[in-house]
Amino acid sequence: MYNFLLWFQGLSTVAVFATMIWFFPSWKNRIHSYLFIYTLSVTVNNIGYFIVMTADNKTDSLWGTKIEYMGKLFITCALLFFMTEYTGARISEYTKRTIAIIHVLIGILVFTSDTSKLYYESTDKWVETGLFPHIEFDHGIFYYLYIMMVAGYIIYALVSSIRQLVNERRHKRKIQTAIIIACGVVMALGIILYSTGIMGGYDSTTISYLICLVLMIIATIKYDLIAALDAVKNYIADNMTEGIVAVDTDGAIIYHNLIAERIYPGLKENDERVLTQLLEAVKSEDAINIKKNYYKVEQSDLTDDKKVLGKLYVIDDVTIEYNHNKELQLRSITDGMTGLFNRTETLRRIEEAMNAGHHVSLVMIDIDNFKSVNDSYGHDVGDTVIKGISKVMKDLTILDPKLSAGRWGGEEFMLVMPRTSVEDAKEAAEKIREEFAAIDFQYAGHRTVSLGVTEFVEGDDADGFCKRADEALYISKQEGKNRTTIK
Ligand code: GH3
Ligand code: MG
Ligand code: MG
Repeated sequence: MYNFLLWFQGLSTVAVFATMIWFFPSWKNRIHSYLFIYTLSVTVNNIGYFIVMTADNKTDSLWGTKIEYMGKLFITCALLFFMTEYTGARISEYTKRTIAIIHVLIGILVFTSDTSKLYYESTDKWVETGLFPHIEFDHGIFYYLYIMMVAGYIIYALVSSIRQLVNERRHKRKIQTAIIIACGVVMALGIILYSTGIMGGYDSTTISYLICLVLMIIATIKYDLIAALDAVKNYIADNMTEGIVAVDTDGAIIYHNLIAERIYPGLKENDERVLTQLLEAVKSEDAINIKKNYYKVEQSDLTDDKKVLGKLYVIDDVTIEYNHNKELQLRSITDGMTGLFNRTETLRRIEEAMNAGHHVSLVMIDIDNFKSVNDSYGHDVGDTVIKGISKVMKDLTILDPKLSAGRWGGEEFMLVMPRTSVEDAKEAAEKIREEFAAIDFQYAGHRTVSLGVTEFVEGDDADGFCKRADEALYISKQEGKNRTTIK
């Protein structure tokens, strides 16, 4: 069993190393470099261990130990660098270089030492002096200093990896980080088992290095795949003009680009409010309003070989278009000078109210003796009077939004009053008359209006309905103006 383990370990190390060399030309990042240094160190360590265990004589065994130590030296150092780089833990370049230099110096000490100095003769056996053969200081302090340094690396790497695992939101990256953490644990176990002597003569650290290597390769292959895809995806997504929100089949947000982040600052994985809003926007096909902007949202399936993985929302900023359309639409139904509805829109609203099948009343208004205003003070003064009556009507529609105020002609106006009886309409008409009469215009002084009120009766068409209001207004004019007539 012992021999089997030994041979298995030796051969698999060589195989892994050969594989690493084979793939070397395609490597391109620091993760790869650290993995390579680690593999090289494990290989050297295993070869040394192999020589020690199969040595025929003491000289060979001592040389084996030397080689084994050369590998051992860089294994934990490479693992620390690999783990911190992989999990993105903060460790300065300066610290890394210092650690590397210390290891190289120790390596030189080990390599240049007299092989016999790696051991010293105790009462009944040879004892390792550890990694500091030049300093003959019992089997003691420097050896344990080194062990403490290694333990420090492993604890640091483990703590930073666990912190990363806790903060990582992406499922796959979580698994990868967990694999890396397993490395640290395996490494620590190997050292603990060996130093407690449970494994008998077998050096459990050598096999733990090998297990770590396999785990690191698995993590690296996945790392590459995801890192590359992440880079491509982020580049494309962040350079789009649309916001992207991807949701998995459980309805959790698994990805969003920079633009989506700008639309929804602090977007979270399970942001119900955002998800509901996106879904409603898709259903309504209307632009949604977020802060001062308008967005159109389109939804498509996120698929992989016909398998639906989730949904993709594409959020397009249509603010300029929306405002432009709104402006155009508003302009097409309003009168530029007064801001009231134009005649076409007023007529449309009259018809709409008639079709709704409730009481509808109309109030038609004409300014009295308006020509004389124009003639005496000019057109501009006439315009202020027109704006005056328009404001009185508009104020009324603000108080009662079901009403519509329109400019019917030059100085003729129409108030459309859905769900209003003729009596209530007359009351409103009188209010308009009084309020307008109370205005004291600069130059034109106090002016008056005549009004005609009528209610929709069964069988009316829009023309007939409006005509009756006009006839009522005509009666008001006939009877001396500044009054309201019902017909
Ligand atoms: P009545 O009391 O019978 O209504 O007499 P009136 O002088 O008001 O006569 P009428 O209603 O026929 O007046 C229409 C005048 O309104 C003719 C036109 O010059 C003037 N007018 C029409 N549109 C405008 C406008 O936009 N601005 C100005 N200043 N005058 C306008
Ligand atoms: Mg008129
Ligand atoms: Mg008039």
